Amino acid sequence: MTDHAPADLLIRSGAVHTLVPGEAPRRALAVTGDRITALSASAAGLDHLIGPGTEVLDLPGATVLPAFDDTHTHLILAAHSVHDVPVHRAGDLGEFLGLIRERAARTPAGQWIRTTINWQEVNLAEQRLPRTEELDAATDRHPVLVRRGAYNMVLNTPALRLAGITAATEPPPGGVIERDDQGRLTGRLVDKAVALAERVLPRPALADRIDGLRAASADYAATGIGTVRDCLVPVEDLDVLRGARQAGALSVRVRALVSGFGARTPAQVDELLDRMEPWRAEGDAWLSVWGVKFGIDGGIEAGALDEPYEGRPCYHGTLLWEPEELAAAVDRVVARGWRVGVHAWGDRGLRTLLDVFEQVLGGRPGLAPGTLVVEHGGLARPDQRARAIALGIPVTVQHPLLHDAATAQIRAWGAERVRGIFPLREWLDEGALLAAGSDFPVGPYGAMVSVWGMTTRQTVAGAQGAEHAITRAEAIALHTVDAARLLGESGTRGSLRPGALADLTLWPADPLTCPPDELAELRPLRTVLGGRTVHRA
Ligand SMILES: [Zn+2]
Repeated sequence: MTDHAPADLLIRSGAVHTLVPGEAPRRALAVTGDRITALSASAAGLDHLIGPGTEVLDLPGATVLPAFDDTHTHLILAAHSVHDVPVHRAGDLGEFLGLIRERAARTPAGQWIRTTINWQEVNLAEQRLPRTEELDAATDRHPVLVRRGAYNMVLNTPALRLAGITAATEPPPGGVIERDDQGRLTGRLVDKAVALAERVLPRPALADRIDGLRAASADYAATGIGTVRDCLVPVEDLDVLRGARQAGALSVRVRALVSGFGARTPAQVDELLDRMEPWRAEGDAWLSVWGVKFGIDGGIEAGALDEPYEGRPCYHGTLLWEPEELAAAVDRVVARGWRVGVHAWGDRGLRTLLDVFEQVLGGRPGLAPGTLVVEHGGLARPDQRARAIALGIPVTVQHPLLHDAATAQIRAWGAERVRGIFPLREWLDEGALLAAGSDFPVGPYGAMVSVWGMTTRQTVAGAQGAEHAITRAEAIALHTVDAARLLGESGTRGSLRPGALADLTLWPADPLTCPPDELAELRPLRTVLGGRTVHRA
């Protein structure tokens, strides 16, 4: 290709922030095929590349940025609930139940009605879950499954009946079937008890699951996200992702972390790795397997802490592994050439995980940097930050998680500890390798809602720890240049330069300078991946 081969897409804009260090904003950008081919400091500087087939976008008020990566999210979960009742939009139980009533009015009797899972009851005006009789009042002609996150459900009476749950049902080990003080069912199932409802839900066909990925990935792209690192993909769902890729249904690039949550013994880890083996050769720029995900402690109500939980002097959260056993599992995964991300939320969780990583690295001095990753590292104390940085271990951080979970987390941990979650200013000043994400469904996904959060520290419970805020340029880098580094894709993505994949976003205002309130709501005019427009406003 010569310098003068016509471009497929030519953008003239107010500013192209290339994110190449030290480079001033450009005004024009050309794309041929799936690559960026040229940039110019002048808006008309690439006009010689306009041919008869060139699409020219003349947007002098618009700003171009790389497409964002969400380095810790759950696309698979988003795809499951894309057609469910959107109760995450409700401000109180009246609206919540109204949405269910509305859905029931246009759903054939007897068909399941399910809710979205990305909401917190403490953020509703009543600060509680709906009760089974309230759901019955919304509809008793449909089984209703209200789900919040992965481990909490409320069922109405027809749903309890279908699940075979009565006041006499024994909960499975590790699960709770909640009863009121008179011993009656409240409809609530917690932890392992959710399986009682899951096993009677209709199993979606492959075509429906691909349709879910089509809709959910389009929703991500509509917020400016071009690549997702899905941090908990059940190994059998790799086939679903492959089906979506082959059907052209993906509007985002997908990097999968296969769930290692069921793999405890060496034999179980080996079995998982055997099932992943074909993906060593199969991945491409749209869909690939990044590695394996483990978790060392619980989340909002079970992250492992050094000091006890608020008002619970004997409770310090839950460590899910013996360090020796986790080190052995991680070592087996890296021995087969895969990377490992491990969830750590509390300070005790992170400290223990760093012990584990140190042990693995000690046994494998040649391990490539970035092979071992801390997911969240929520409560990262100064000594732990110093260790992670000295070990060269990257950390994925998710302000949107803190945004939505702040009220619930303050109840569990108290205000002071919550203000210290995600100390991004310190991490960056001390030289950490960070990348940003959402942890949807715990937090909302979206390019600018995350930048707004990291720069204002705003949450549902007001600003938390304003001293930990970072600049907009830093926040954008955590979703682009730094994210590409975490994914091992700096050679092809992350900044806008000739030869890089044409993964970019066009914004109606400049995200670096627009007012903060505008920033939180800012949506892209377009999201382009590999030269293909995957979202158009
Ligand atoms: Zn997660």
